[in-house]
Amino acid sequence: MDYELSAQETRLVETARTFAIEKIAPFAAYWDLNRTVPNAAFREAAAVGLTGVLAPKSIGGQGASFLAAARVVEELAGACFAFTFGLWVHNNMLNTIARNGSPDQIARYVPPMLAGERIGAFCLTEPGAGSDAAAITTRAEQSSDGWRLSGEKAWVTNGVSADVFGVYAQTEPALGWRGIAGFLLAGDTPGLERTPQYTMLGGQALGVTGIRLTNCPVSETDLLFGPGDGFKAAMRGINMARTFVGAGCCGMLQASLRTALTYGAKRHAFGKPILGFQGLQWELVDVATELEAARLLTYRAALALDRGERAVVEAAHAKKFASRVAFSGISQCMQVMGAEGLRTNYPLGRHLAMAKMTHYTDGATEIQNIVISRTLLKEYGVDVG
Ligand SMILES: Cc1cc2nc3c(=O)[nH]c(=O)nc-3n(C[C@H](O)[C@H](O)[C@H](O)COP(=O)(O)OP(=O)(O)OC[C@H]3O[C@@H](n4cnc5c(N)ncnc54)[C@H](O)[C@@H]3O)c2cc1C
Repeated sequence: MDYELSAQETRLVETARTFAIEKIAPFAAYWDLNRTVPNAAFREAAAVGLTGVLAPKSIGGQGASFLAAARVVEELAGACFAFTFGLWVHNNMLNTIARNGSPDQIARYVPPMLAGERIGAFCLTEPGAGSDAAAITTRAEQSSDGWRLSGEKAWVTNGVSADVFGVYAQTEPALGWRGIAGFLLAGDTPGLERTPQYTMLGGQALGVTGIRLTNCPVSETDLLFGPGDGFKAAMRGINMARTFVGAGCCGMLQASLRTALTYGAKRHAFGKPILGFQGLQWELVDVATELEAARLLTYRAALALDRGERAVVEAAHAKKFASRVAFSGISQCMQVMGAEGLRTNYPLGRHLAMAKMTHYTDGATEIQNIVISRTLLKEYGVDVG
């Protein structure tokens, strides 16, 4: 695999590393403990080009490759994956509008989103439809002056502070996924109401809420994807999103490994540093091996995307494996640190909670298995009816 990044991309990764050290790491525990959504950090990220990483250079983005973007996610997530995931949902929304929007949509939404003044959110999941995304029931009905949207969305990352909502809704229930369209809704659209911020086991900086839509008026000019194209667009973006979740898991695992190694070299028991015990060294060696493997799978998926491939199976393998070894590996790193690893002055507890949450974001682990098994059965000519 060729990992070469351009000089500009290398600088972008270095920018992300510095940003993570200076602007995220010192505040991440506070954000989590106080359920704070870091809006100011979004604007600071914008100032160094981290809101438009994938967006084309022609509209002010960085135009980075998927591999470079995955490296950026890795660097940021090592400090706080919750903030990084929110920033990435925003990046993906901005990129989707920049590449698919009308000139009018691009002019209205992209500049304030690049500046971090308006924050994006992606709204597909509903209280009654998660894995089975084609079963959403939020309804879009055509009116004399555009559309009216009614229904409820769940698990909206950035929901607390977003003011550009990408909402997927059903225009004709009898058509199934072919009836699903995508709309852009401003946060102050009449009839749009946020539910209170979710309280979760971690990841509070994600600012997750639900949104309720009651007869929300949406003009024709805010239709981003027509019926049928909406569902296809949501699914197109998911392979990219899964690859970035893989990268975030690698970032958290790398940070946890570094923390455990540093701590284990200083902490003494029975007259020597605890890392002098081979059993503990091997615990961390196993983590390091799994990290290497997760990275390879993630970079392979990113490189496939860079070649213009859909990377369906590559992204599924990467996300499934990286989220699994992040959860087990961070837990092993905590074990090496003894009780101290549980304290919030270390990032391991935050990372462990986020690693669990990555088992559901952008498709649960079982859904990755469904994707992989389709190819596996085909590849081996197995017919199960
Ligand atoms: C932190 C976080 C942030 C999120 N952010 C967003 C967001 O910004 N926008 C958004 O739209 N959504 C978001 N989601 C929602 C996420 O996409 C869903 O959680 C995911 O699609 C799974 O849906 P579910 O949780 O409703 O699980 P369900 O669909 O209810 O599934 C429950 C269990 O059943 C399993 N299962 C389901 N179907 C099958 C099957 N056919 N075979 C075997 N097992 C199956 C699942 O894998 C899971 O283990 C977020 C979720 C989390 C945790």
